[in-house]
Amino acid sequence: MTKKLYDEDSHIQVFEARVLSCLPAENGYRVVLDQTAFFAEGGGQPADRGILNGQSVRDVQEEGGDVYHMIDHPIACGSAVTGQIDWAFRYDYMQQHSGEHILSGLAYAWKGVHNVGFHMNEAITTVDFDGVFTPEELTELERRANAAIYENLPITVSYPSSEELDRMEYRSKKKLTGAVRIVKVGDADCCACCAPHVRHTGEIGQIKIVSAESYKGGVRLTILCGQRALADYTFKSRLLKELGGTLSVKAEEVGKAVEKQSGEIERLKEQVAALSQELIECRLQELSEQTSVCLIENNLDTLAARSLVNRLAAQLPGHGAVLLPKKGTEETYQYLIGSLNKDVRPLAKELAQRFGGRGGGSAQMVQGTVTGQAAAIAAFLQEA
Ligand SMILES: [Zn+2]
Repeated sequence: MTKKLYDEDSHIQVFEARVLSCLPAENGYRVVLDQTAFFAEGGGQPADRGILNGQSVRDVQEEGGDVYHMIDHPIACGSAVTGQIDWAFRYDYMQQHSGEHILSGLAYAWKGVHNVGFHMNEAITTVDFDGVFTPEELTELERRANAAIYENLPITVSYPSSEELDRMEYRSKKKLTGAVRIVKVGDADCCACCAPHVRHTGEIGQIKIVSAESYKGGVRLTILCGQRALADYTFKSRLLKELGGTLSVKAEEVGKAVEKQSGEIERLKEQVAALSQELIECRLQELSEQTSVCLIENNLDTLAARSLVNRLAAQLPGHGAVLLPKKGTEETYQYLIGSLNKDVRPLAKELAQRFGGRGGGSAQMVQGTVTGQAAAIAAFLQEA
């Protein structure tokens, strides 16, 4: 059994140990030490990273009480080694994990809901509960969790006897056998867990619930703790400031300004639609005794152009076509051709052969893109 140094002190970053075994494994060697500060993957927390005698530790796993450190080159059995864990990586995960315990412990004590799923990655932590919260309750839960941080409660680890465990009330996802490791967070939580945690809740800094979504009849909360919460705050406040700058309002007025702008956009959309309709009527009135026409329209969107082509098709014995310049391109046009009296698909094919482009559609209406000089394309479509 490897002695786990983080059981006594989760803040050990550098340690000395003796090599008990070093055996070849897939892509390297697996080393067992008499003691280690490296945490093996488990309980939702990833394996520690770090250095063992100058070598990068690629993975850490535990089997039957032995902790295996995966490295590239062998180390002599019996030799003394120095290990150094990647502290920034570990501390970040301890902040997230300890924060999750507080939130889950308080949620259980207050609402009787159970944590039924817990996932951490390098960006977020999600916690699944088998019950739901109103938005107000989530705000209150977050407030209580942060209050537990301000109290700077001690976080302790113990291995109680089976008699003590029988008398103890603690959270656990499954029925446990053998030595049970209990992590206690003051009076906020008591939970079976194998992972290292911060020493005091103050180290977590802050717990922020960033989203809540329905999940399997309960709720999935996404949370950020410690430095991640600060980074999120920094990002969001900068974003809000930028938005305020763009909208020429104070940060607290951004919501109102966006709402006002949305209303303005809706009004403008209606105005554009009405003007497009007027333009279409004007174009139809301008038609002379032609068989077919092709119009180049700079100010119609596809929907209005389709409406124009439909009206032209209804009025002309041949076909009606519209070219729309494609924004940000030179000599590329979106085209629409329609007719009620003939199949326009062969015309689209001829257009593509002559100018290059692509498109398709039905016998009555084809659309696509074409490249070339607008006047030449229009002349071709008008005379075809
Ligand atoms: Zn845990």
